[in-house]
Amino acid sequence: MSDSSSPLDAAPVGGKVRSPLRRVLYPIRGRLALAALLSAAGAMLALVPLAGVAHIAQLALSESGSSGAIGWAIAASVASLFTGMTLITAAELLAHQADNHITHHLRVAIGQRLMQVPLGWFSERASSEVKRAMQDDIGTLHSLTAHFFTTLGRAVGAVAVSVAYLFATDWCLALVVLLPFPAFFLFLHRAIKASAAHMGDVVTGMARIDNAVVEFINGMPLVKAFGDHGNAQDRYRAAVDAFADTFTGFTRPLVTAMARANALIAPVTVLGVVLLAGMLFVALGRIEPLQILPFALVTPGLCAPLQLLHYITHDLNNAVAAAQRVQALLDTPVLPAPAAGSLPNGSEIRVERVSHAYVPGTPVLNDVSFNLAPGTTTAIVGPSGAGKSTLARLLLRFFDPDAGRITLGGVDLRQVESRELYRRIGFVLQDVRLIHASVAENIALGQPAATREQIETAARLANIHARILQLPRGYDSVIGEDAQLSGGEQQRLSIARAVLLDPPVLILDEATAAADAESESAIQDALSRFAKGRTLLVIAHRLDTVMNADQILVIDQGALCEQGRHAGLLARQGLYARLWEQGRYQNTMDKALPAC
Ligand code: ATP
Repeated sequence: MSDSSSPLDAAPVGGKVRSPLRRVLYPIRGRLALAALLSAAGAMLALVPLAGVAHIAQLALSESGSSGAIGWAIAASVASLFTGMTLITAAELLAHQADNHITHHLRVAIGQRLMQVPLGWFSERASSEVKRAMQDDIGTLHSLTAHFFTTLGRAVGAVAVSVAYLFATDWCLALVVLLPFPAFFLFLHRAIKASAAHMGDVVTGMARIDNAVVEFINGMPLVKAFGDHGNAQDRYRAAVDAFADTFTGFTRPLVTAMARANALIAPVTVLGVVLLAGMLFVALGRIEPLQILPFALVTPGLCAPLQLLHYITHDLNNAVAAAQRVQALLDTPVLPAPAAGSLPNGSEIRVERVSHAYVPGTPVLNDVSFNLAPGTTTAIVGPSGAGKSTLARLLLRFFDPDAGRITLGGVDLRQVESRELYRRIGFVLQDVRLIHASVAENIALGQPAATREQIETAARLANIHARILQLPRGYDSVIGEDAQLSGGEQQRLSIARAVLLDPPVLILDEATAAADAESESAIQDALSRFAKGRTLLVIAHRLDTVMNADQILVIDQGALCEQGRHAGLLARQGLYARLWEQGRYQNTMDKALPAC
């Protein structure tokens, strides 16, 4: 059994495209097939005692039946039962072992894949989506890998051996007593068809409820603050009511048809058919009364496996959907890794004719070129949505540009190993990401070998040391547990993280929104100390950053429309001058001073 291949390797081979489910299960296909076979064999053997009872009864009642023959029949039945149970147990163990293997394998493979996807991919996705695939969907696969195939094997084995036995005993009576089962499938098919007709409405109804719930919850602060005009609440109520009606329409035909189908294969119905048909056959002189016994014992035993087969198809549907999402994560496009990483020579950054579109055909950046000379400060300004953050993300290789290139120290970013890249280019963005770990570990994320002294020095420079000491366990306090930090404090923690890495280039999105005046002046103080002597690219919101920048890039609708220093750009009377007149760049000192 080839269990060593990875799900990532399980891509189409030789032009054959496998379904997501088959691709996900590919590494454990051998073990699952063996588990299903063992289960089927076990179920067959476990049913032998039923035939044994009928045989023993016939021996006991016939004149030729010796106690020796009866003893052998008992021994064979008991041995079959135990062997069958042993095989079923072995199959369950094998399936659970395979499940454990694939769960571990998938989690590792997804983790490896996510390490290679562009950083921009994460900002586009809610972490709940990734969590769902990594945790919930892999959990859903458990019912398939650990239970579906063994259950299927048991059900098929039991049905096959029972049907074969009945036909071998009397094929004519077998045909009659098995009639409820095709009828069961007929009603089942009708039930599925009836529910399928309403399935689209159910899915649409559920989506409407989802949207209405989000709208209802998001709108709650507005409702509380500005009064309830009833809109979101009405839409929520209407969606819930409509879903209740749709669901009734969906379940009514389903429940009726399923009730009929289940009644048909209830053991008592099946036994009734066996007894009636058997008595008829006896009356017709086709069989002896004793010959009804094997039918009475074995036929009702078919009901449970058939119902089981029906139930496990639900698991299969859920597992297929889960496998699709897991496989989609495994197929996430990755950033091409450099064949042999080149080391940048120096820290000059050149942006050469860069264009980028998130959605094909809608460019967000168009043919942008500029240089960042070492040790200089560059401010990017422009209207909202102009493409400033996109430019910063391209420099951090959150994704690669569609056209043009960006070089660091003469080397295309695509040829620089990410470790080398982030050692040279640090960043502090407004969207701070902290991990569930101690404050010290969060600061030392890119430099795990840093000493406590180095961590504290970085925190001092970032103006956050004093605040950390106020936490219950100081640097050992854990984020989200006993370290609850404000937006501005989190920002300073991420500055400390960048300080520790000591990169020659720093890209920052100036924080203004998240921080109060006091926190903002602490952030600015930290940044200006840290930025000294480095190449700095700032998405600028502050007057002093813009005024003192060595170079200002004015971006409008994805194009670099003006470039220069403050005084020169004002004199041009262009977009920069207009933005300036509109008072877009506020002096934060105004904010820091209390109004009197
Ligand atoms: P702001 O000053 O308001 O932050 P910005 O100049 O930084 O704006 P960007 O965030 O770069 O602008 O966005 C530029 C354009 O690209 C906008 O129209 C935005 O809607 C779009 N955009 C940004 N991120 C994505 C994304 N992940 N997918 C699709 N479009 C995006």
